[in-house]
Amino acid sequence: MNPARGKHGSIWNLIFLVAFVPLLTSCAELSPYLRQMNLVSVQEEVQLGRQMAREIEKQKPLSRNSVVVQYVRQIGQTVVRQVGSIPFPMHFYVIDDPKTVNAFTAPGGHIYVYTGLLLKASNQAEVAGVVAHEIGHAVRRHPTRRLTQVRALGQLQAMILGESPGEVSGMVTDLLGGLGIMSFGREDEYEADEVGVRYLHAAGFEPTAMISFFQKLRAQEGSNPSEIEVFFRTHPPSSNRIVRLNTIIQGLSPLPSPIVNTSVHKVVQTQIR
Ligand SMILES: [Zn+2]
Repeated sequence: MNPARGKHGSIWNLIFLVAFVPLLTSCAELSPYLRQMNLVSVQEEVQLGRQMAREIEKQKPLSRNSVVVQYVRQIGQTVVRQVGSIPFPMHFYVIDDPKTVNAFTAPGGHIYVYTGLLLKASNQAEVAGVVAHEIGHAVRRHPTRRLTQVRALGQLQAMILGESPGEVSGMVTDLLGGLGIMSFGREDEYEADEVGVRYLHAAGFEPTAMISFFQKLRAQEGSNPSEIEVFFRTHPPSSNRIVRLNTIIQGLSPLPSPIVNTSVHKVVQTQIR
């Protein structure tokens, strides 16, 4: 069942006409508008998220280790409490795959962290940094914004190819097709960094941990590329992102005693190994 399919066939036709035809002639001017566009309602996103979470559970080995899962959930909920206006409740999961250093956000606030990332993080603040970044994607509703763009593009292709546009593909198929490589555009990454680092700081974590984690991955890029490549594919790091993060952090009030680590981090890593 696909809650938002069919019913929206005419809407997708409309966005093609309204948004993409002018885009062909005026790309630069319209792109911020297109990036912000979201034709999926919050309610639809929640439904879609539930459906995707069920699919992900079938496809990925979710961790049942309560110490590990609770660790990520508690970090997630601590950060979420700093989000002013939250579109939907957030759900946190751990994927039991110590070889993959990654995290991703499915629609409707479903956030997944791989055990490989928990092993790679030197401390709790680095885990919180990644989780805060993912919460940034969720709060700004990047998965359904991306879906809006993908669907609109599909509409464009279908019109060019002369296929039936309404049946090009379903929403879940579109998103699941990119599962694991669920990537957002560069501007979305900047936005998730920006809001994420503010949540991280407000939650009392050392905000520079977001940078140190990126830097560590960048430094290891040459020595162990396969291990980290997934995170790079989904979150292309750039010196630009680090510069931007540094500028934001400099504008934040210094924390008297920021959380960097707790003893639980090592316990969790021992449980994974
Ligand atoms: Zn990201």
